[in-house]
Amino acid sequence: MRMYDIIAKKKYGFELEAEEIEFVIKSFVKGEIPDYQMSALMMAIYFQGMTEKETVLLTENMAHSGDTVDLSEIDGIKVDKHSTGGVGDKTTLVVAPVLAACGTRVAKMSGRGLGHTGGTIDKLEAIPGFNVSIPREEFINIVKKTGLCVVGQTGNLAPADKKLYALRDVTATVDCVPLIASSIMSKKLAAGADCILLDVKTGSGAFMKSVEDSIHLAKVMVGIGWGAGRKCTALVTDMDIPLGYAIGNSLEVIEAVETLKGNGPQDFSDCCMELCANLLELAGAGDSESCMKKVKEVIANGAAFSKLCEMVEAQGGDSSVLKDTSRFGTSAVIHEVRAPFSGFITAMDTEAIGITSVMLGAGRETKESEIDYLAGIILKKKTGDYVNQGDLLAVFHTADQALLVKAEEHFMKAYQYAAKKPETKPLIYAKVEKDKVTVY
Ligand code: URA
Repeated sequence: MRMYDIIAKKKYGFELEAEEIEFVIKSFVKGEIPDYQMSALMMAIYFQGMTEKETVLLTENMAHSGDTVDLSEIDGIKVDKHSTGGVGDKTTLVVAPVLAACGTRVAKMSGRGLGHTGGTIDKLEAIPGFNVSIPREEFINIVKKTGLCVVGQTGNLAPADKKLYALRDVTATVDCVPLIASSIMSKKLAAGADCILLDVKTGSGAFMKSVEDSIHLAKVMVGIGWGAGRKCTALVTDMDIPLGYAIGNSLEVIEAVETLKGNGPQDFSDCCMELCANLLELAGAGDSESCMKKVKEVIANGAAFSKLCEMVEAQGGDSSVLKDTSRFGTSAVIHEVRAPFSGFITAMDTEAIGITSVMLGAGRETKESEIDYLAGIILKKKTGDYVNQGDLLAVFHTADQALLVKAEEHFMKAYQYAAKKPETKPLIYAKVEKDKVTVY
């Protein structure tokens, strides 16, 4: 078999055979296919697309390109939730403990921040002592004991994706549905959960900017999940506005704690509760009403917050910062950002707001950058709110005064104002199940 022939076949729009896809992934991981030929194939896929069969085969080969996690030692239903990424998206910090408090098992691998989007692992590392690199046996034992454990991706999980993602990042082939779907689902399948709820973000802060594209991506991923024998549902949720009010690692942990105590912002709380209830329903824990009731119960009675504390302690973290969040400390520089106009906020460029938080130190400008865990933004007004000129729009937290001018300039460009109140957009646009799409 020759890589040249496979590239040419895809270039002319033909469907690749199972053996060809297997050959490509195995040889690429072994280093037998050079990056320039793989890049050519990625670009051919970008323009010609892939059939559902090809996408499933690609995903399965990527999922089995390295280690897979066997969760069979853990009793009960193992669930996983995956977000395609956004700004202020700290849902795992709430969803994982709620699900564990409801009796399901969450053995989860999460990622670090990527571009303008934050990552769960960085947020968890804002908790002093928290260890995200736990050996496999201890990982399983923590889940058995506490019901949940969230770690970083092990070195050899879906190595094909690691190599492919790095290549796509520099060859303008990231925003391609079969490639995104296979990238995400290969890692989910390798990570071993029985039931997977996908939170496909849509809007200015997401990879997929339009609802139609997001629903299409959701359908492809849900199809892959079921095709591989996992129960899988997707919710297409809003990322046209940052989720909640806190952006930045320790700031987001604090907002998640408030949410677990029942005092979170409405949009973020609603989003988390919907994700939990839908995942519990998928796992067979009851109908949607009874699942939502359980979710509300474990928040109201403190069981979900206790689960987060248990997990933090089991992973070496200091849970006293969760019980008294002032112990996180505050940034050296706290800067108030005020509205330059009066009017309704009609739109926020959420990607630009995510980049602003990175500029303040909350994310990585380069692979080597160190994160400032205290840095970030607390929004005071969001789309739909009325502001008078001079009202507080946001508060910046940073270690370095010198970062403020450029960050504020960037932030200001993200807001649009008008005299008329904009229409309220839904928080959840669609639910994609095995054989059904419900658009809200
Ligand atoms: N997240 C991933 O893991 N892969 C993609 O291709 C896009 C988002």
